[in-house]
Amino acid sequence: MAVGNSQPHVVVLGGNFAGLGSAQKVREYAGGGVRITVIDRKDYLLFVPNIPADIFEDKDPALRQRMDLRPTLAADDIEFIQGEVVALDPDARTVDFIPNERPGGERQRISYDYLVVTLGNRLAFDRIEGFDRYGSTVADLYHGNKLRRYLHEGGYRGGPIAIGSARFNQGDGAVGLQPYPGGKIPGAVAACEGPPVEVMLSMATWLGKRKLGGPEKITVFTPAAMIAEDAGETVVNKLLGIASGMGFHYVNNGQDIRRITKEGVELASGKTIEAEVKIVFPDWVPHDFLKGLPISDSRGFVKTSLLMRNDKYPNVFAAGDAAAVTMPKLGAIGHQECEIVGRQIAKDLGKMSAADADKPLQPIVYCIGDMGDGKAFYIRSNTWYGGDTAVLTMGRMPYFLKMRYRDLFFSLHGKVPGWGLGLAELLAEDHRPSSRA
Ligand SMILES: Cc1cc2nc3c(=O)[nH]c(=O)nc-3n(C[C@H](O)[C@H](O)[C@H](O)COP(=O)(O)OP(=O)(O)OC[C@H]3O[C@@H](n4cnc5c(N)ncnc54)[C@H](O)[C@@H]3O)c2cc1C
Repeated sequence: MAVGNSQPHVVVLGGNFAGLGSAQKVREYAGGGVRITVIDRKDYLLFVPNIPADIFEDKDPALRQRMDLRPTLAADDIEFIQGEVVALDPDARTVDFIPNERPGGERQRISYDYLVVTLGNRLAFDRIEGFDRYGSTVADLYHGNKLRRYLHEGGYRGGPIAIGSARFNQGDGAVGLQPYPGGKIPGAVAACEGPPVEVMLSMATWLGKRKLGGPEKITVFTPAAMIAEDAGETVVNKLLGIASGMGFHYVNNGQDIRRITKEGVELASGKTIEAEVKIVFPDWVPHDFLKGLPISDSRGFVKTSLLMRNDKYPNVFAAGDAAAVTMPKLGAIGHQECEIVGRQIAKDLGKMSAADADKPLQPIVYCIGDMGDGKAFYIRSNTWYGGDTAVLTMGRMPYFLKMRYRDLFFSLHGKVPGWGLGLAELLAEDHRPSSRA
């Protein structure tokens, strides 16, 4: 660590998509005159979006979806600390962490000039009664591999399958923001419903290939009035039309998961879905130490403007799932936010003009979901926020893009060029008007 270094110090908490992206963007735009430190409890990036596809293809995601953070950061002269962040004090401009490479680490304190909070959230499986015994999920390596073995090593007995989300408890941190003229960041009762839709479609393909049935065995449920509502009504209606035509069962307004039992999923609405396999997504809950801080909203998400900057503490930024403004909790939105963080800090340091830096977030839901059998669906939509774009396509090209995006991300060490998403649009979208949602 460069003790005595007089350069402005940017500390980035979290080193997954939003943390790595923010640190790299600060280096790109602010150049060499700034010291950057990333703190994460693990020293690899986990490429979460591709875990589900690995499960259905019987590949071990632990061997395929991790990227080593240390050399990636070192290449940009970014320091890395492997530690558990336990507290932060925005008045004193300090962060407390515990080095966690080995158990028993002591508490340490680090000072910052700029802070970027990119710690994601807790995925609160521990708050779903019965999940430990009867639940499955695809959100991390342990649970993903557990489900993979169950499906591929003879555990599955051919019974019904339930897939869906618990209720998300959003805070008040994005109220009043207007990303598009007359628009807003709406309140949502599910944090991220691309994954349940993706899992439902690829599970049906998996069943079909093994002659174990198909969509009629699967019930997808949502706490909301409409699944994946953030993709916009036009896209979802089209998606639901296709799904019900295929034979999937759909339960909306479930309100929440009350508990999971051996027999199925009990919803807060009073409905019970009978199922042998219960694949669920929990509430996305802010980390405990963020709750009650002056930078946090009513639940502990970090409050920012659409320039990703906290109003009360302008040297504090947030990006990715930890930011209140990130709705739904989608890596693709975090990606858009990292760009803004990098530009804002460069502006403060006199390395970028306000005209180039002050471009507020206009979130776009980009979602590419595996459907199995080399096919995927692709959504690009901003109508939920007041925009006018709603595209849904399906086929081999989106699948190719989903897989190639991960390869590109790893081979370029996270520095996917800005044109990556533009190119995706060009390739994934059939530009004939009739093909659009
Ligand atoms: C199954 C699934 C599929 C998905 N598919 C897609 C998709 O196709 N497209 C898409 O855009 N999004 C997708 N998402 C959402 C996407 O994964 C998240 O939006 C994204 O990972 C958020 O990135 P982040 O960096 O903000 O947070 P995270 O990825 O959660 O990273 C937070 C980082 O902070 C670290 N950390 C947390 N707490 C501490 C602490 N106290 N001390 C130290 N370090 C800490 C963690 O180790 C982690 O590295 C999917 C999510 C799931 C669960």
